[in-house]
Amino acid sequence: MKSAPLPHSKITEMVAGLHRLAHNLWWTWNQGAQEIFQELSPRGWQNLYHNGVAILHEVSDYELRSRLQDPELASRVCEVLEDFNSYMNEPSTWGNQNAPALRQNPVVYFTAEFGFHETLPIAAGGLGILAGDHAKSASDLGIGFVGISLFYREGYFQQAFNHENWQSEYYTLLNPKNLPVEPVLDAKGGPIVCCVDIGMNEVFFQAWRVNVGRNPVYLLDTNRPENEQRFRDLTLRVYGGDSTTRIMQEILLGVGGVRLMRALDVDASTYHMNEGHAAFLVLELIREKLACGKTLETATTETRRECIFTTHTPVEAGHDRFDPDLMGYALSKWPSLLKISSEDLMKMGRVNGSDQDETFCMTVLALKFSRAANGVSELHGQISREMWQVLYPGKTVNEVPIGHITNGIHLMGWMKGPVRRFWKSKLSDSIMSPSSGAIAASSKRKSGQSLEREVNSPEFWQRLADPSFITDEELWALRYKLRRELIEFARRRLLLQGHRLTQGDFIAFDHLLNPDALTIGFARRFATYKRAPLIFEQFHDVVKLVSDHQQPIQFIFAGKAHPRDDEGKRYIQRVIHLSKYSDLKGHLVFIENYDVHVARQMVSGCDVWLNNPRRPLEASGTSGQKISCHGGLNLSIMDGWWREGYDGTNGFSIGGDTHPESIELQDRMDSENLYKTLTQEVIPCFYNRDAQGIPREWISKIRRAMVTLVPQFNTWRMVQDYTKKYYLTK
Ligand SMILES: *Cc1c(COP(=O)(O)O)cnc(C)c1O
Repeated sequence: MKSAPLPHSKITEMVAGLHRLAHNLWWTWNQGAQEIFQELSPRGWQNLYHNGVAILHEVSDYELRSRLQDPELASRVCEVLEDFNSYMNEPSTWGNQNAPALRQNPVVYFTAEFGFHETLPIAAGGLGILAGDHAKSASDLGIGFVGISLFYREGYFQQAFNHENWQSEYYTLLNPKNLPVEPVLDAKGGPIVCCVDIGMNEVFFQAWRVNVGRNPVYLLDTNRPENEQRFRDLTLRVYGGDSTTRIMQEILLGVGGVRLMRALDVDASTYHMNEGHAAFLVLELIREKLACGKTLETATTETRRECIFTTHTPVEAGHDRFDPDLMGYALSKWPSLLKISSEDLMKMGRVNGSDQDETFCMTVLALKFSRAANGVSELHGQISREMWQVLYPGKTVNEVPIGHITNGIHLMGWMKGPVRRFWKSKLSDSIMSPSSGAIAASSKRKSGQSLEREVNSPEFWQRLADPSFITDEELWALRYKLRRELIEFARRRLLLQGHRLTQGDFIAFDHLLNPDALTIGFARRFATYKRAPLIFEQFHDVVKLVSDHQQPIQFIFAGKAHPRDDEGKRYIQRVIHLSKYSDLKGHLVFIENYDVHVARQMVSGCDVWLNNPRRPLEASGTSGQKISCHGGLNLSIMDGWWREGYDGTNGFSIGGDTHPESIELQDRMDSENLYKTLTQEVIPCFYNRDAQGIPREWISKIRRAMVTLVPQFNTWRMVQDYTKKYYLTK
């Protein structure tokens, strides 16, 4: 069949549409859009690390226009652009119905890191990923939301290892032209430049806008010719440098963020501080009010009414503290700007204001100047109330005004391609009940959209409990597919990692890991409280488990240690040593350079996700939430979100809902309990097969996990909670 060539204007429109699409992170959670970029240059897709903007540079305009004459590609491009358009212009969002006021006066969300996608590597870990998922769901829900963070030109570090398997860090310079960011310009087309006071200096900054669906996120960048070099480099790295760099970055984030909002005429209803890093914003809000002639008391009261604060960790080192000298230097202009003494400024961040020895704590500043505060799981809320009770004299622990909202994940951003396709095909096979949004069985396209609509609803996941909707055999086939994809990914990465290979090693790579074996994953920051090597405490027993021919298990590890965390680096070194030189070789691998892409492979392919932090230090944790929609099961200490998620049927718990005082005792008990649960529950259940080779009991746990966990532990629910509980209540 012949089709007429597309007119010039239509092609031009599609090309412009693709560029718009590449500059909106919406495509990172839309399968069709990703497939188009991938198809335009499959090799570029791999080598440019899934970067739509870079793909459109790789493919010349001439090539693009020619290829759009392929009617099949053109029709898919049109479809995706239409979906994008209707997403952007959807009139009846949850936010429009439930939080219309926020459209005029948005929530401005301040965070030191945002983790959106592997192409924009400006997050160090879970805090940034959570912020990114928060922003994506705020867009999906149609909530007025603006994000503020810093543009780290060298991002977070890349991980490398020396011959002793000791982690070293290197940095690559990001090129904004090749990123989904756009310069923030004024009406004349020049960059909008603002400034903040740091020490006795004026430090100038510009901003980059990241389009996250319907909402903007602004990244502040001090790399301006007006600045001295040391200030141009202020935004070079995520948490880079010493506490001097840290305090300067935080002044920029908090104070600069507010100033940018003024320059852009954004009239915020609420300033949300995601962790204490952003808390200097309260200084700027108070300063503005004083400059309008208000009293300090009025300015303070009004500022408190505008701010909310989320604390993310009970780990002491997670709370920034600055000593009086550093405060005096970095904030030298601020006492006079606030018309207070430098001692009074220090008091704003002290529990006991008159204690000259107490450092300035950003968490204290944030708590003192917020109308509401929360932890990120029920237990973490409780622990935070205990931690900060000293700030509220006269109140019992339970009266301390710190609540909780349990973290979640952005489902469509985490769900791997094959799983989306699987659910989509299931949806298009079924005629859904009118109440959950009727779709025509024939229309593949409609069903695709409806996955995005349905994916957060309990009803959707409830149907999965029904084996007549999806059979055990189908689910097991999906698990096999995902496990194999992960194992092949691991083999590829390990081959690239192994630079001093012998010929024997080289051949061995395709025999590394066993696609039939129970695959246990552990990937996250190598902060020591997460106890990555805990399982290997029982080394000889674990060796027996991995070498069991009937019921083998295997491990895939990944993660970065903070550049200055030698203990964390020792943990990694230990895991790599075991993977290379012990009897675990071939059954344990360490994938280098953990990031969002590695995470997506791991959370989809692993059968079991291991989480063994020292309770109660894992405030929530989110990586385990990413596995349920892929059919993985959690094996976790009863800490953070898992304490709320686990119901006895939907995964495995290590130990109970308590922990001893003594850390040594705790480590020993947890290690024993971990081994016990693994050998008495996890392995027998996984290998309990029927005549067809299907682990029925295991699969019923997978169904239970999907029904009970997925609709609860996602950011669609979480951002609604923030909206109802905090954003809309003043
Ligand atoms: C989800 C995620 C995390 C958070 O993992 P936790 O186990 O919750 O600490 C960290 N890094 C990356 C890249 C992630 O995707």
